[in-house]
Amino acid sequence: MSESGQKAAKAMTGMTGMPLPSNQNYLPDRYLTTKTDDPLGLAFPEKFTVHAGQAGTPYSGSEAASIYHELLDKPGGPCAIYVHLPFCQGKCLYCGFAGSFPGQELTSNYAKAVKRELEFLAQKPAACGPVRTIYFGGGTPSCLDPGDLALLMETIFHNFSLANDCEITLEGRIHDFTPERRQAFLASGFNRFSIGIQSFDTLVRRKLGRVSDKQTASELLAGLCDLNRANVIIDLIYGLPGQDVETFLADLALADQCGVDGLDTYQLNVFGDLKRAVEAGRVPAPAELKEQGRYYIAAANYFTQKHWRRLSLSHYARSTRERNIYNPWAKRRDRCLAAGAGAGGFLDGHATYRLPVVEGYILRSMEGNFDIDFVTSPSPAAPAISFIVGQMEEGYLDFEELNSRFGVNPGPLERLLVNWRESGLVELGGKTMTMTMEGLFWGVNLTQAVVDTAANNLQGENR
Ligand code: SF4
Repeated sequence: MSESGQKAAKAMTGMTGMPLPSNQNYLPDRYLTTKTDDPLGLAFPEKFTVHAGQAGTPYSGSEAASIYHELLDKPGGPCAIYVHLPFCQGKCLYCGFAGSFPGQELTSNYAKAVKRELEFLAQKPAACGPVRTIYFGGGTPSCLDPGDLALLMETIFHNFSLANDCEITLEGRIHDFTPERRQAFLASGFNRFSIGIQSFDTLVRRKLGRVSDKQTASELLAGLCDLNRANVIIDLIYGLPGQDVETFLADLALADQCGVDGLDTYQLNVFGDLKRAVEAGRVPAPAELKEQGRYYIAAANYFTQKHWRRLSLSHYARSTRERNIYNPWAKRRDRCLAAGAGAGGFLDGHATYRLPVVEGYILRSMEGNFDIDFVTSPSPAAPAISFIVGQMEEGYLDFEELNSRFGVNPGPLERLLVNWRESGLVELGGKTMTMTMEGLFWGVNLTQAVVDTAANNLQGENR
């Protein structure tokens, strides 16, 4: 699986924001840095969230379904499609994904149900805009039968209007990319593969429950890159049990050698089975937060030396093929039609989510019922928040533009900005804030701080 490789951590923090206080001078002290000579390790005691943002009121049941159908009936603009395939044949120690692989018959029936939902969505006015990016996520979508994936791709190609340069990503693990299967994935039209390598190191991989060893994983990856027919990106996690900065740097060099087009580096979040295994002494203790910054800087320096381009706080491009459209799209909560059990999307700033109940989803789809289970309305400051998240994901913020386009007065942020500059997390020039390397490591905290302060600023003015 891609992104952080740690789906539960995302799910817990990704869709909810902090409650909005009513004080216009809102500035929680937790966003001020600790005075320290080591801002990389100690500026904050923790990362406050996995994805920065802020949501409004949650709705469930028939109320959520009714809001969802109203949103689908409104004509929309450019959009993404997210297809959720909640199956996996692995069980990695650090992963919160609770699904399994229930067998070919059920996963094929599930694919047919998703096909029906895609056809349903395609008829809706909300689906009229060009599709800019498509993402098959999970779980491990690459474990499905290639024929089932091809069925879904054909359905999308025949029913939606795709932008000519639409990014079409299949998430997976390298074990599934055998020569025969990768040809089938390519033939069905995927143009980007996002592969959760996490670590190449065989000992580290074994501790985590990964299947392939270093040689197998790197040979399969190099074979996929050598085909030169699609964009190949991988995820690597830092701070893993048994890993040190040298092992991590060796992973980066091997990814480079294999010829990947892009790479995400994610810090390890310790919870669930991994936490229990560490507490029981079954695996070595992973790096603490104050050490994880060393990995981040080591990677950033490596990419600088190698002239890779930083596209977001955690994502780097080695080739011009990689554009990284989907992940920032979702973080900004731009329009995204979602299909499948456990799928989450965004429409007009509303977050939509369906429970991951596979059998129930199949049965409902046979009756033509594509209701969803939850909707969260947008924060009143949603357009400004989307703008802030989009720019800060790239490591900067233009206050003048924020003010002129969204009416956010930067005044209430001043105390934070001075504090961050004194701690070496940001540089201030004119009307723009740029994160330093240390600031990029703490980027999610800085973004959440600006989001909360700006949202409160706008709400105060609107009262
Ligand atoms: S392969 Fe499966 S268990 Fe392992 S990280 Fe991906 S989704 Fe989780």
